[in-house]
Amino acid sequence: MAVVCPECDNPITVNVDEVDEGETVQCDECGLDLEVVSLDPLELAPVDDTGYDDEAVSPVEEEEEE
Ligand SMILES: [Zn+2]
Repeated sequence: MAVVCPECDNPITVNVDEVDEGETVQCDECGLDLEVVSLDPLELAPVDDTGYDDEAVSPVEEEEEE
């Protein structure tokens, strides 16, 4: 299964049998780290060096409670 790197449009082949949700794969074209957020359907989200926070672009929006 392949997804397209959001950074460089390089197709990244991901073997869903070898990764789990929460693992990261790396684009071998630009080196971008992508976290596996979902296996079915396969969905990857860029991992920032600064870490996950609500300001990061994420396909899943979390509602923030006070
Ligand atoms: Zn890339």
